[in-house]
Amino acid sequence: MSMIYCMECGKQISDMAESCPYCGMTMYNIQPPPIQQPQSRQSAKKPISFTKPAIVMVICTAIYWISLFAGDAIGGITGVIIMGLGGISSSVAFIAFLLIIVRVVEYGFRKLRK
Ligand SMILES: [Zn+2]
Repeated sequence: MSMIYCMECGKQISDMAESCPYCGMTMYNIQPPPIQQPQSRQSAKKPISFTKPAIVMVICTAIYWISLFAGDAIGGITGVIIMGLGGISSSVAFIAFLLIIVRVVEYGFRKLRK
């Protein structure tokens, strides 16, 4: 058995004592407050945004269709290049679409955990 100092009044007390005989403070109170659950931190995370990838998808899809018609109308090498750029744009739209799916799944998982 050893002696410790009371956190409240500073007097020497037994480390076996459940509470301080001088001020009555419960020794369990000395323990640091419980660490916050990671779950509560997760709910504090910023909400999942669908807006940005949705806008990117809509714009890139529009560029793709415009480039198809424009490239067809212009014709020749220039038309092929414009169609090629439209193809890249459609790839970006597809990536944005995948991102939306990932976020929808993430959103669903968060709802399930609550
Ligand atoms: Zn005390």
